[in-house]
Amino acid sequence: MGMHPLMRVLSSEINLQILGVLRSGSFHPRELAQILQRDESDVSRRLKNLERLGLVEGRWVHASGRNIRVYSLKVGEVNIHFEPGEVRIEAKGKTSYKFPIRWERRPDVNLFVGRNREINVLRRSSGVIVVHGIAGIGKTTLVAWTFPGAYWYSITGMEEFEYLTWQLGLFLNSLEWPDLMDYLQGGGRREGDVLELILKGLESTGGTIVIDDLHMCRDERVSRMLSYLARRLKGGRVVVTTRLKPNLGTEGVTYIHLRGLKPKEAYQLARLKGKKITPGEFAELYGLTLGHPLTLNLLLETHGVQESDKERLFDFLFSEIYQQLSEGEKRMLSILGLFDESIEYDALKELYRERSIFTVLHSLRRRGLVERVSEHYSLHEMIRGFAREMSGSNREQCYLRYSEYLLKKAAPREFLMALKYIIKAEARDRIKDLVFLRIRKLRRVIMDFPKAYLRLLLEVADDPYAKLEIGVIYFQKGLFGKAMRLWLEAEPYLTGVFKVKVKSLLSSVCMEFGDLGCVREYLKEIKSLAEGLDDTYAWLLYYSEKTKYEFYRDNLTEALESSFKELELVKALGDIEEEPHILFHIGDTYLEMGKARKAIEYYRNALDLSRVYGVHFREYVAYTELAKAYYEVGKYEQAVGYATKSAEYFLRIRSYRRAVGTLPYRCVSYIGLGNLDSAEEDARELIRIAQSTGYPPAWIGYILLGVVEELRGGDGKEYFEIAWEHLRGHEWIYRTVIKGLRKVFETSVIEAKVNGLNSQRAG
Ligand code: ADP
Repeated sequence: MGMHPLMRVLSSEINLQILGVLRSGSFHPRELAQILQRDESDVSRRLKNLERLGLVEGRWVHASGRNIRVYSLKVGEVNIHFEPGEVRIEAKGKTSYKFPIRWERRPDVNLFVGRNREINVLRRSSGVIVVHGIAGIGKTTLVAWTFPGAYWYSITGMEEFEYLTWQLGLFLNSLEWPDLMDYLQGGGRREGDVLELILKGLESTGGTIVIDDLHMCRDERVSRMLSYLARRLKGGRVVVTTRLKPNLGTEGVTYIHLRGLKPKEAYQLARLKGKKITPGEFAELYGLTLGHPLTLNLLLETHGVQESDKERLFDFLFSEIYQQLSEGEKRMLSILGLFDESIEYDALKELYRERSIFTVLHSLRRRGLVERVSEHYSLHEMIRGFAREMSGSNREQCYLRYSEYLLKKAAPREFLMALKYIIKAEARDRIKDLVFLRIRKLRRVIMDFPKAYLRLLLEVADDPYAKLEIGVIYFQKGLFGKAMRLWLEAEPYLTGVFKVKVKSLLSSVCMEFGDLGCVREYLKEIKSLAEGLDDTYAWLLYYSEKTKYEFYRDNLTEALESSFKELELVKALGDIEEEPHILFHIGDTYLEMGKARKAIEYYRNALDLSRVYGVHFREYVAYTELAKAYYEVGKYEQAVGYATKSAEYFLRIRSYRRAVGTLPYRCVSYIGLGNLDSAEEDARELIRIAQSTGYPPAWIGYILLGVVEELRGGDGKEYFEIAWEHLRGHEWIYRTVIKGLRKVFETSVIEAKVNGLNSQRAG
C-alpha cells in the first residue's frame, strides 16, 4: 500500500528486536537466533533483507582458521536512532518517523469507549497493578489500550517462566538495560538473581510489563515474581489482568475491580458499532447486559432478544449467532476452539486450507467472535467453551498439522508446543523425531526450559526416547542415580545414534561416580557402534567421552589427541556452540602440561570465536582463562588486565561463581606485582561474596588476606584459620590455592601456621 520498504521492515516487531539486539555488538545469525529464541533460517533471511536496505552490515571475519559471516548495525547512513522503547528514522534530517518497539503480541484494540477513571488510575500508578473482574468484562482491552508500548505477556497455562524471563531480558535490553539478557545468555538461571535483575531493570528503565490472564497460570514462579515485585517495585510497572483477585498483600499493590460499562459508555459503543437504537431498546439492552462489553457486542450482532432469560443469555446469544454463520465460519470456529493459545495466520492457513480464509476471519472478527493479536488469532475464552462443543474439524489431524508447522521453525518454544500437540494427538511414533531434533539442533531447550520440557515428557514417561530426555534433565540437576536408572531402562529399546547417545550418557554417569572400569567398557562399546554407523555425531560422542576419561587419568597427551579429534568433528558438524568449549579444554590441557604459551594460543582462539559470534558471556570466560595462563607465565600486568575485564563483567551480571573464578587470579597477580593494597581489596571482595552467597570457594579470600598481612610484616595466622574453618569439607580448594600461590609466596609459612592443615597432612 505504497508503504516505504524501509517502513515495512521496521513495522515488523521481529526486525526491530533484531536491530535492538545488534545495538550491543556484532553477531552471528545463529547466536542472534538463540537470543531471540527464533529459528536461524528466519533470522538469516531477515538480516539479508535488512542488509539490502542498508540498516545492517554483514561482513566476513576470520577466526579460528575459518571465515565467518557476522552482522552489525550500520547506523548513521540512514540516520536511524535507537532510543529507549522506540526507533526514530530521520529521512534527510527533517522528517522523522517514530516507531514504538512492540513486544510479543499485544492485542489490537480498534474500538474503545469510556473507562476514563480506570485509565487515570493506571497511568498514575507505578509498581504492581492488578485489574480483576469476570470474563469478558474488558480487562485485556483496557490495559492494551492504556499501555501500547508495554511488553505484553499472555499466560497460556503452559509453564514458561523461563521464556518470560528471556523475553523480559530482550525487552529491558531494548530500553538500554542489557544486564538481564547478558545474565541469561551466560547461562545464569538462579531465581533470586533473576528476580532482582527484573526489579532493577524495571526500576531503572521505568518500563511497563503486562501479565495477561494470570488466573490461567500454573507456574508458581510467576506468582512468586509478583509477590517479590509487589513489595519492592517503585519505578516501572507490572500490570496484571486476572479473573481471580490474587493474594499479593495490600502494601504497594493497586487493585482495580473492573465492572460493566456505564450506560453512557454502552450507548456510545452501540453507536460506534453503527446500530440505530431507540432509548427504549437501549434500556432493555443495558438491563440485560449491565454493560458487560462482550455480551453487548454479541447482542448488537443479533436481532435482539425476545425473552429476557438473563441466566442463559450468553448461551442464547451464541447459538443465535452461530445459526447465521456460514459453513466455513463454523469450521474456523471449531479449529480455533481446539487450541488454548492464539494461532498464527500462516498456521491457520495450513489448518483451514481454503482460499476464503481471510474473509472468514474478517467476518468472525467483525462479529466479535474472533480476536486478533498482531498476526495471531484466537477465541475469547467464553466463546471457546461453546466452539469446543461444536464438531466440524478433525482434532488429531489439526494437532498433527499444527505441530508440523511449529517444528519447521526449529525454535525452542515452538518445539515445546509441537511436543504438546503431538502428545495430544497421541502420535507416539513422532516422539523419536522430536528428540532427535532436540539433541542435534535445539540443545538449549534443556538448559533454557527444563521445567516445561520435563512436564511434557512426564506425560509420556514410558516412552524410551522420553526416558532418555528425562534422564538428561535429571543429570543436569545432579540427580545422577535417577538419570542412570532411566537410561538403563531405555537402552535396550534404542538403536543407531540414540544407542550411542545413551551409552555415552551412561559413561558420563560412571565418570561422575569415579567408576573408571565401567567407563572403559562403555567406551569400547561406543567405539564399535560408531564404527558400524560411520556417523560424525556418533564419533563426536565417542571422542568427548574419551577426552574426559584420559584427562581424568592424567594421560594428558592422549586427552589432547582426543580433543583435537573432537575439534575436527565439531567443525565438520558446523557446531559453533560446542567449539569454544573444546578450545578451552585444549588450553586447560596444555596449561596442565606446563605449556602456557600453547594454552594462551587456544584461549585466544576461543576468545576470537566467542567475539565473532557475539557470545558475550563466553568472551569473558576466555578472559578469565587468559588471566590464569598469564599468571602462570609470570606476566602479572597482563593477568591483571584480563582478570579485571572479566571480574567486572561477572560481578555486573551477578554471576558470582564466575567472578569467584576470576578474582583470585587478579589478587595473586597484584601480589606478584607488589601492589598489596589492590590485592587486599580483591581479597575483601571475595569475603563479601562468601558472606552474602555462602559459595564455598569464595572463602579463600581469607587465605589471600592472610598473605597480604604477612607480606606487610604482620601475622596472617588468624585469617588462614578462618579460611580453614570455612572450607572444612572442601580441603582440596584450600590446597589448590596454596599450590597456585607458590609462584608469588613462600607457602610453607601458611602450612606451618594452620594446625589442622599439618595434622591432616600427617594423618
Ligand atoms: P477480559 O479480558 O476481561 O476477558 P476483553 O478485554 O477481552 O475482556 O473484552 C471482551 C470484549 O469486549 C472484547 O472483544 C472487546 O472488544 C470488548 N470490549 C471490552 N472493553 C471495551 C471497551 N472499553 N470499549 C469497547 N469494547 C470493549
